[in-house]
Amino acid sequence: MNKTSKMRNYKQKLALVCLIILCSYMSLKTVSKADSIYFDNWYSDAYYVLYWSQAPKVFITNLSGAINIVPYVNSAVNKWSNAGISSSVTTALSNANIRFYGGTRSELISIGFYYTVEDLGKASFDSYNYVTTANSYYDIYELTAASASVCSEAGSKLYANVALHEYGHALGWGGHSAYFENDVMYPYLTEANSSLTIRDINQLLQVYNAMN
Ligand SMILES: [Zn+2]
Repeated sequence: MNKTSKMRNYKQKLALVCLIILCSYMSLKTVSKADSIYFDNWYSDAYYVLYWSQAPKVFITNLSGAINIVPYVNSAVNKWSNAGISSSVTTALSNANIRFYGGTRSELISIGFYYTVEDLGKASFDSYNYVTTANSYYDIYELTAASASVCSEAGSKLYANVALHEYGHALGWGGHSAYFENDVMYPYLTEANSSLTIRDINQLLQVYNAMN
């Protein structure tokens, strides 16, 4: 995620117009019987989503004393689990499906994360398999490995919210919620983004409900 800018917000408002046109088109389209999956909700700016077929286990690593992410990742696991997307923390790296790191930005770059100077957290879908298409054009992938991270430069007031956001990606949230600033999966977070919204939740939960 990056710092916000007025220009970007302006572009996002323009993009919203395009989305409304797309939704109007879709409401007129008849879904064929060949479409096995249909989603009523879609809040992402991406045309793909991922899911875990079994509740993943996350292994937490602090790269240095710059930041201790353990309480923040634990909180993120609990909040997403309470929302219906289960996962758990493991102390055995060999059991882990998700690896979650905390460190300075340069430490995280050194282990392979792609951070710009503005990024506060990063996640990556490390391996996945294409499964099917929903609504004729949303691609659905099954995740088999993911990584996430929070950098110490985010500042302690944002650690919890960035961890909750990056863990959402690690659970399969592709792209971002582009139009609602209070969503945790909005690309720019403030201290206010501490609670998952119905949009954050439904974007993923519809996939987990359909696939598992
Ligand atoms: Zn993000």
